Amino acid sequence: MNSRNTFLEINLNNYVKNISFFKEKIFPRKIISVVKADAYGHGAVEISKAANNSGVYNFVVAFFEEAIELKDNGIVGEILILNYFNPKYINEIVDRGISVTLFSESQLKEWTSFLKEENKQLLKIHLNIDTGMNVLGIKIDEAYEIIENLYENGYCLEGIYSHYTNADIIDSKFYKKQKEEFSAFVEKVSSKHSMKYIHISNSAASISNNIDENYVRLGIYSYGLQAIPEIFLGEINPVMSFKSIISDLKKIKKSDTVGYGRTFTARRSMNLASIPVGYADGYDRKFSNNGDVLIKGKKCPIVGRICMDQFVVNISDINEKVSIGDEVVLFGNQKNEEIKVENLAERINTLNYEIISRISKRVERRYINIK
Ligand SMILES: *Cc1c(COP(=O)(O)O)cnc(C)c1O
Repeated sequence: MNSRNTFLEINLNNYVKNISFFKEKIFPRKIISVVKADAYGHGAVEISKAANNSGVYNFVVAFFEEAIELKDNGIVGEILILNYFNPKYINEIVDRGISVTLFSESQLKEWTSFLKEENKQLLKIHLNIDTGMNVLGIKIDEAYEIIENLYENGYCLEGIYSHYTNADIIDSKFYKKQKEEFSAFVEKVSSKHSMKYIHISNSAASISNNIDENYVRLGIYSYGLQAIPEIFLGEINPVMSFKSIISDLKKIKKSDTVGYGRTFTARRSMNLASIPVGYADGYDRKFSNNGDVLIKGKKCPIVGRICMDQFVVNISDINEKVSIGDEVVLFGNQKNEEIKVENLAERINTLNYEIISRISKRVERRYINIK
């Protein structure tokens, strides 16, 4: 049921096209599809199925539950957990064939205390090397010893990776430093142990030629959104659009106010439309008096505060007849107009990542697959 005709339209064709574009772009490196946080709000299962259909068989998620969801829904391939899990789950992780990230030495001790002896050889570990992020990861000068230690104790190291702090900044010195340190480390380790997976690039880093890895962790670009403010990648297309309808129409007079706190006062009589989407849907309250939507292909400014379940726009500039039930586009295309997620993000001083990943479960995801 969708009684308020409000949904995220997820265009899987665009996803598949973005993936094919990147397959070529990053060749000979391969794609690891980043599907954490429900594939940035797109729906991890549907997106991962589309990835499988495009020949992508590697995934990363943040948490164990996200990996379980993919496995339980028949997603084929390797799934790597990037983040923390309670060590008591270590055997279940092995049983499910999921790979884990080792990001600290103490973690290994905890795992060992729970790990069944017969699972030791089966545990698939990627080592997260900290090259400057200082969020998760083993310091590069401690990493080599830990690797030696792993092998001596009968563990299997499946991969090593790191993460860039500012790959979205062109010509960043720190980016170069991270890249060089990681490369040097990879070279040192590879001379002794063969490593199945070596990966450092995220979307922003993927488009510069990085040969010191065989996989790229591709997130935001696969969803058709931009990763680098100064570079517009025209070959990809957004996968997600946010659509709703008009729930009510009204006229107000000069000096009338709109919504909670009376933050908007009409300077003249105007026509307004209400839209049944609010901050509980993940449509940020900071769009209060600061944003617009598309109706009849025209940008209509938001007036007053965003409520929990609705907000109001000014439709006075629309010349055609507007009716209850007419389509409203919160982001995406309508006729010849577009509202980009990047523009919304800029308005409220955040990233496209946050806008899309915070749209709540209350909003239906509707998949389109026009062939
Ligand atoms: C989220 C994430 C990515 C993907 O980043 P994008 O900029 O979306 O491509 C890659 N690596 C790690 C470790 C991540 O957490």
